[in-house]
Amino acid sequence: MKIDVVVVGAGACGLTAALAARDAGAEVLILERDPAPAGSTALSSGFIPAAPTRFQKEGDSARRMAADILRKNHGEADPRIVEAVCRASAPTIEWLADRHGVPFRLVEGFLYPGHSVERMHCVPEKSGAALMGYLQNAARGIDLLTSARVTDVDARSVRIERPDGSRETVEYGSLVLACSGFGGNRAMVREHLPEIADALYFGHAGNQGDAVRWGSALGAAVSGMSAYQGHGSVATPHGILVTWALMTEGGIQVNERGERFANEHAGYSEACLPVLRQPGGVAWCIYDERLHQLGMTFPDYQEAVRAGAVKKDPSFPRLEATLEETRNLAAAGGQDRFGRSFADKPALRPPYYAIKVTGALFHTQGGLLVNERAQVLDRSGKPLPRLYAGGGAACGLSGNHVWGYLSGNGLLSAVVLGRIAGENAAMRPRR
Ligand SMILES: Cc1cc2nc3c(=O)[nH]c(=O)nc-3n(C[C@H](O)[C@H](O)[C@H](O)COP(=O)(O)OP(=O)(O)OC[C@H]3O[C@@H](n4cnc5c(N)ncnc54)[C@H](O)[C@@H]3O)c2cc1C
Repeated sequence: MKIDVVVVGAGACGLTAALAARDAGAEVLILERDPAPAGSTALSSGFIPAAPTRFQKEGDSARRMAADILRKNHGEADPRIVEAVCRASAPTIEWLADRHGVPFRLVEGFLYPGHSVERMHCVPEKSGAALMGYLQNAARGIDLLTSARVTDVDARSVRIERPDGSRETVEYGSLVLACSGFGGNRAMVREHLPEIADALYFGHAGNQGDAVRWGSALGAAVSGMSAYQGHGSVATPHGILVTWALMTEGGIQVNERGERFANEHAGYSEACLPVLRQPGGVAWCIYDERLHQLGMTFPDYQEAVRAGAVKKDPSFPRLEATLEETRNLAAAGGQDRFGRSFADKPALRPPYYAIKVTGALFHTQGGLLVNERAQVLDRSGKPLPRLYAGGGAACGLSGNHVWGYLSGNGLLSAVVLGRIAGENAAMRPRR
């Protein structure tokens, strides 16, 4: 069997790459290890940043978006890739909406830390599972082989293994690696991300670092291996994501003593580490009725309520003193000892709410080095023939640290590099 464009992985990156390659006239085959496509994309909130789109209310630009991303990673990411991805972000979201029926809208009412303007886009259900549903609908008619785990890749073909142990070889014209990062591979996490190795992994277990393994064997360069998206707010023991909007809009995190320990406005990714350093590796998100109502607009939060994770009228030894301190800080203006200002959001008012949370690893950001065309580069910087990567399989936009992750960098790289990869893969000589 020889196919123009073979795509490994059917998450957001793989499906977007496949749509782009099919739109460009190529014959496409997607290979997915699971019985049904899901990936980390289906576990996510499905929020994708893009600028300037027609969905946005405020003026924005790709340049401003790139500046936000580079500010967050302290300039550690390659600005050429960041700028290329940002430039392609709005056309990609509008192409998915207009040509492929993904009903994007703007996420309104709050900003994630580091976003200078509202530019997150989501589907009406505000969930990655729903986003996957729309992408799969759009991809109807494209050959998708599920329960087909790719085991080996060489310069011409891929080998797949089926659940019954049978094996097949598929030759490709071009290959798009969209099989994400290595969050599900404990040995690789321990090697590259020791600081988070003992924490909960909240992403897709099937993401085993295969792209890095195959790419490296073919001579590809890898980069950003110490970067990842963490999260400081996963309800425990329930295992439900608690939106960080509770923090950006005025909430605080305290430990079991009722004391704050970090700047909740720095970013949810880096918040995983200080949370894990608290007694028992847990913290409590504290907020009020106003923020509870905001939370209720998120499906994950509704699930947390149903699961009994949300407690009313919490009592911790020093909580009242901590809240008093935040009120004083708000009145005085300026910043607290962690660098957070309390002046710009309404002070918390009783009755208070609390959710016990822990820190987690969401996905890895390191991967195959690619150029602006999503071509995988060798160690001397030259494109490897007919090999493309995007999403978690490629080096991300976050530099080398957990704090370099700006909210949305994950799906941004998945859908935008996915589209670029699919378009370019389709342009290669056909069979
Ligand atoms: C809880 C959570 C919330 C998140 N929220 C957001 C958010 O709101 N916004 C955002 O930008 N990012 C978010 N992220 C990150 C985002 O989910 C990922 O960056 C993104 O989904 C990566 O897309 P992908 O297509 O590269 O990988 P995935 O969606 O993980 O897809 C990879 C696919 O490849 C398959 N695969 C792997 N290996 C093989 C193999 N050998 N053979 C065949 N198939 C294989 C997998 O089974 C999987 O289906 C979140 C992550 C988590 C965990």
